[in-house]
Amino acid sequence: MARVLVVSPHPDDESIGCGGTLRKHVLQGDSVHIIFLTSGERGGHGRSPEETKRIREREAKRAAAILGVAHIEFWRERNGGLRVTDRLIRRLRAKLIAWKPAVLYVTHDREQHVEHRAAARLVRRAMAGLPRSAKKPRALMFEVWTPLQRMDEIVDISRYIKTKLAAIRAHKSQCDVVQFDEAFLGLSRYRGELHSWPGGDYAEIFTLL
Ligand SMILES: [Zn+2]
Repeated sequence: MARVLVVSPHPDDESIGCGGTLRKHVLQGDSVHIIFLTSGERGGHGRSPEETKRIREREAKRAAAILGVAHIEFWRERNGGLRVTDRLIRRLRAKLIAWKPAVLYVTHDREQHVEHRAAARLVRRAMAGLPRSAKKPRALMFEVWTPLQRMDEIVDISRYIKTKLAAIRAHKSQCDVVQFDEAFLGLSRYRGELHSWPGGDYAEIFTLL
């Protein structure tokens, strides 16, 4: 049993970027924790930040339940103003020391979305300051807004694609505006066909941090 930590800048990145892989971890008995750095309260598309926060946290819980992830945390940093502060770095480092994940997933450092890049920077800085006695997790970056160019790891998610799509759709307030389910069915298929050889039909890819 491995411990797996996901650092997700907003509710929905976890399902979009690595939902299939998380489902695989859960089914093989790994323990998965997800940290939502912000609750995405600016992504309400006309709703107030307060209401959006409530909706998106509820959607995040529903998506986690679909994936079978039992433990999620809302750190409630400011969406639209996520900063890699010393306080936040220390908080993540404390989590790494206390919980000792073997694997960590985060949005990649060349994402178009500035808060996705910030999440990668946060992980890098938290890991850089780990005491020598602490074991560093294997940190893998996933794609959401900008496709990855380098592939260090590929996970065949053909058996979990339906669960991944259901988890994405649980973020209904976001899927109402952008059809992430359609888009990532396509990207997973592309990764499966072009990069998973000999073939899985659907795949998620990752780049080492
Ligand atoms: Zn995001």
